[in-house]
Amino acid sequence: MLGHSHATSGALAWAGAAAALPLSILTFPAAQIGHLGTVDLLMGTFLTAGAALLPDADHPSGTISHALGPITHTACKIISTVSGGHRHATHSLAFVAAIAYGTWAGEHWIGRWFTLGLVFFLLALAVRALNLCPPGEGLRSYATIAVLAVAGTFAMDQWISDKPAWLPFSVGLGALAHLIGDCLTDRGCRLFWPLDIRTRIPIIDRTGNKVETWVISPLFVLGTLAALWYVITHQP
Ligand SMILES: [Zn+2]
Repeated sequence: MLGHSHATSGALAWAGAAAALPLSILTFPAAQIGHLGTVDLLMGTFLTAGAALLPDADHPSGTISHALGPITHTACKIISTVSGGHRHATHSLAFVAAIAYGTWAGEHWIGRWFTLGLVFFLLALAVRALNLCPPGEGLRSYATIAVLAVAGTFAMDQWISDKPAWLPFSVGLGALAHLIGDCLTDRGCRLFWPLDIRTRIPIIDRTGNKVETWVISPLFVLGTLAALWYVITHQP
């Protein structure tokens, strides 16, 4: 699957979850009650879109690798080596649980700087994957990504709490949406890594990149907007 399909599927998963699930699940384990504020709802959409790229941190030439130039490229190379290559450890349910827990732990034990750092990184991934920057590699696109991600991080700094209780869910959900997308391709993923079982329901590979770009991603965006509209207009 392409980066933008993953990102828009993450956004859709978040908007759908916000429409369908109670706040106590979205904010697990803090389990707050009430409703998600509109700002949190919109921020969560972009952050989950960014988190939906995280499993491909094991891919030295994927979307993440091209998000912030040599920094992310080197990081992806290292992760690829450590995790055993593309679609191994980072494409498992264990990874989903680990990064959701890691987000919770970082918010809890490190606090605001962790939250803002993670927000910056996830926004950078979202900007890249959603094609909000000039295409290709080079300073012009990296600078645009960095500026947009910094602007979004400042906005978050103004509007959200030190440790948004929904962030661990958002990060885990984004990664889960990625795995589901990859399972729909021919290669599948090893969801139960380290067990060597490959899960795959190949329906995407036959459709090709054009269908993803012109049909699937636009449908995900429309679905996201519809779900966001539903949540915002149905809040008391
Ligand atoms: Zn992947």
